[in-house]
Amino acid sequence: MQARERIPDTLDLTDRAKLTQHYFINNPDPSQNYRPHFGGNILAAPPYYSHSEWDFGDVSGRFVEGFILNRIMVGDGEGMDVEKGVRDFMLSLFREDGLSYRGYIKGLDPAKVGDMYLWDQGRVLYGLVTWFLKEEDARIEKYIQGMLEGLKKVALYEDDYAYFPYEAMYEGKYVQPRYNYWGDMSQSLWAATGQPIEPLVRYYEAKGNEEALDFAGKLVRGLLKAPIHFFEPSGAFTLHKEPFHFAFHVHSHTAALIGLLRYAIVTGDEELIGLGQRAYDWIKKHSSTSFGWTCEHYPYTTLQRDHQEVCCMTDVLNLAVLLAEAGYEHYWNDVERISRNHLVESQITSTEIYEPILVTFKHEIRKIQPEQGWHSYDNILERMVGATPGSGSANELFTTGGFGASGCCSPHMNKGFYLTWSHIITRKPGRIRVNLSLNFNSPWVEVHSFRPYQGKVEVILKKEAALSVRIPDWVDKWDVKVSVNGEEAPFKWEGDYVRLEKVHKGQKVTVEYPLRKEWIREDVGTASFDFRWRGDTVVEIKPKGRIVPLYERAHMDSDEIPFRDQPLRCAPEDFHLW
Ligand SMILES: [Zn+2]
Repeated sequence: MQARERIPDTLDLTDRAKLTQHYFINNPDPSQNYRPHFGGNILAAPPYYSHSEWDFGDVSGRFVEGFILNRIMVGDGEGMDVEKGVRDFMLSLFREDGLSYRGYIKGLDPAKVGDMYLWDQGRVLYGLVTWFLKEEDARIEKYIQGMLEGLKKVALYEDDYAYFPYEAMYEGKYVQPRYNYWGDMSQSLWAATGQPIEPLVRYYEAKGNEEALDFAGKLVRGLLKAPIHFFEPSGAFTLHKEPFHFAFHVHSHTAALIGLLRYAIVTGDEELIGLGQRAYDWIKKHSSTSFGWTCEHYPYTTLQRDHQEVCCMTDVLNLAVLLAEAGYEHYWNDVERISRNHLVESQITSTEIYEPILVTFKHEIRKIQPEQGWHSYDNILERMVGATPGSGSANELFTTGGFGASGCCSPHMNKGFYLTWSHIITRKPGRIRVNLSLNFNSPWVEVHSFRPYQGKVEVILKKEAALSVRIPDWVDKWDVKVSVNGEEAPFKWEGDYVRLEKVHKGQKVTVEYPLRKEWIREDVGTASFDFRWRGDTVVEIKPKGRIVPLYERAHMDSDEIPFRDQPLRCAPEDFHLW
C-alpha cells in the first residue's frame, strides 16, 4: 500500500463499543463498592439510577464480562479503576459454599424469597470464565471450580439428568418462586437449569475439565427431561399445564439454548445440534424478526405490551454465531442483519434523544424524594449515554416501562457488538475468511465495507494468505466480481464464499455485487411494518415512530459513499475470545 486507503464511513462496531464503555465507567456506584445500578428512570424529577436485587450477581457478572470484551474492542485503558472495583464487588458476594449471594434488599425478606439465585450463578460464571480465559488467573479458576462444586451440591438428580427445581434458595433450602409477571406465576419462568451450562462448557474447552462438561451434559438433559423442562424435541418451547402455560421469559430460554447448542457442538452430538437448530428457527419465527427485534416474553399479547428485550436479541445473535461457526454458514446472514439494524439502533447515542421524551411525557414526570443509598442522581442523563433502554418496539427506542438504561440489556448489547465484531474474520494459519461485510482492522487484514451505500467490500492483506469472502444470500452468484489491485481476478466458490488461493502482503482485493434495494413487509409481534432494505441494512421503516423514532437513516439511502478521517482501531492478536 502506498497512499493510505480511504476508509468508508460505515458501521464500525468499535465506535459503538467506545460509547458503551462510557456507560460501563459511569454506571457503578463508588459509594457502594462499585455495585452497578440495574435500573434507572429519566421520567422523574430528578432523574435517577436505581439499585435492585439484580445488581448483585446478575449485573456485576455482566459488567465483569462486559468490561473485558469491551476493552478488547476499544483497546484503551480508560476506567480501569471502575473495572477493578466491579470485579472486587462481584467476588465479595461469594460464600464458603462457592456460590454467589444477594445482599440486603429493601422490603424483601430473604427467608421468604431466597438469597441464592440460580440465575445469578449463571451470570457470575460468565463473568468468571471470561475473566479466566482472558487472564488465566489461577485465583479465578478456583472460584469457577468452587461454583461447579456448589452447583453440583444443590442440583437434583434423576436418571441421567440434573436440574434446579426452583429459582432460589435460602440457607440451603429451595424457596417457592416469587416473580409474577403478566398475570401468571411460573417456576419455569427463569429456566434456572439452563443458565450455568454455556460457561461450564467454555471452561471445559479451555482447560479440559471433564467434571464441568459432565455436569453441563446432565443439565442439558435436564432442560429436555426434568419435570419442568423447557424445549420439545421439535425445538418449540414446552407448554406446561396450567398455570405454567404462559409467561415465558424468552431470555432465559435463549440463554439455556446457547448452553445446549454449545454443548452439542463441543461433544459432536448431531441429534442435539439438530434440536438446537430447530429451536433457533422456532424462536426466529415465533418471537423474533429478520432485523433483530426479539420479544421479551412468549407468546405475543398486545402491541403495547410486546416490547423487545435486547438480551434476547443478543442471545439470538449468539445462537446464529454458534450455528454458523459449526458449519451452517447461512446463519451469518442473520448475524449481519441483526447487528446492522436493531442491535445498534437500540443504543442511546447522545443526550439529545431525551428531549422528545421529556416533552411528550412532561405530565408524567413525577417528583421524587431523593433517597440516598437506593438511587443516584448526579448527571444521570449524560451517564446513560452508551446504554440501551433494553425495551423498545420496531420503530421506537423507548416504550412504556423502559425509560432508563437497562442493567442487563446494556452489557448484553455490548456482548452482541463483541460477538459480531470478533467474527467479522476467522483466522486459521495461512488463511483468512471474511464472514461479515463490516469495517475491521487487525494485524493480518483490514476490511473496508462500502455497504449499505454500495455492494462493495475491500480487503487489504497485511500478510500473505488464502482469502475467502462471504457473499450475502440476496446476491445472484453470477453477478459477483472480484479484482486484485484493480485487475479482475479469477476466483473459486467455496460454499457462499469467493476464494482466492494466494493474496500477497499489501494487495487489495475488491469484491463487488449489485445491492438489493426493496421494501419488505414483516410482522413484528402482533403488528406489521414496512422496511426499506439496502442489502442487509434497514434504511427506513413505515410507519415511522413518533417519539424517538428508529431507523432515521435517509442519509444511508444513497449510492454515494462517505469517508472517515480516523483510522480503524486495530484488534489485538488475541482478539477472539470465544
Ligand atoms: Zn435485559
